[in-house]
Amino acid sequence: MTEYESFIKNKIIEFVNTDPRNVLPAHNNMRIYDEPLIGIADADDDYFKEFQKPGIVGKNFMLPNDWLNGAQSVISYFLPFTKEIRDSNRMPGMPSQEWMSARIDGEKFNNAVRAFIVEELKKINVDAVAPCLDPRFKIEEIVSNWSERHVAFTAGLGTFGLHRAVITSKGTTGRFGSVVTTLRITPTHRNYTQYYQYCPYLTQGKCGACISKCPINAISENGKNNKMCSEYIDREILSIYAPRYGCAKCNMSVPCESRIPIDTK
Ligand code: SF4
Ligand code: SF4
Repeated sequence: MTEYESFIKNKIIEFVNTDPRNVLPAHNNMRIYDEPLIGIADADDDYFKEFQKPGIVGKNFMLPNDWLNGAQSVISYFLPFTKEIRDSNRMPGMPSQEWMSARIDGEKFNNAVRAFIVEELKKINVDAVAPCLDPRFKIEEIVSNWSERHVAFTAGLGTFGLHRAVITSKGTTGRFGSVVTTLRITPTHRNYTQYYQYCPYLTQGKCGACISKCPINAISENGKNNKMCSEYIDREILSIYAPRYGCAKCNMSVPCESRIPIDTK
């Protein structure tokens, strides 16, 4: 590990492990996240341009250099939900109260992680921007101009699954974040060459466990219908529990919940 890589990884891990905001106050201070995974992407990685193609992210996807002049690297991380949070959401039907709180309070904490990384980089006199905290960040018709999941793929953290979540070595249930920086950090090696390599359904025709987990059949052998999914969450969950919401039943008690479900050796 290079000097800067270990510096930034250790800082992020220490912050997540020790910051007192990594809990749900409304649920007996249940811990939200376990120790994070961290990957680095080259800001000029060809994948970023590919994400601008229709059907991947889309033309509005902004490149690292659009967010920050002179960008060299993109730091991406995955905050895995603890077993307590995951266990709370295993029953079919509506999401657990803990899950919905973790989705909202957990994202507030994720924003604190993003801001912390920017601050730490500025302390060593390099520039940094967290796209999701930037005023230019926007979502139009459920498509945003930065995708934490696609950045995580580029930074070697994992590949997509049939349910469209990113399968990492700590599974799929959690939140992703990223920071673009002018600091040159050695990119993380990607242990895969295809978008769906870690999902056995798409590579070997096996598994498919997420299909039957969805309460509204939004997942089929062709993948997830994002529109159906978001309309269901808005209509049946957000309208009752706003600002809290969530679902992710397709990620619970399936082989990729907390690990990569194929042999990667
Ligand atoms: S449950 Fe199975 S088919 Fe669905 S994403 Fe996970 S590994 Fe792929
Ligand atoms: S998040 Fe819920 S509604 Fe959306 S695909 Fe997964 S199980 Fe279905």
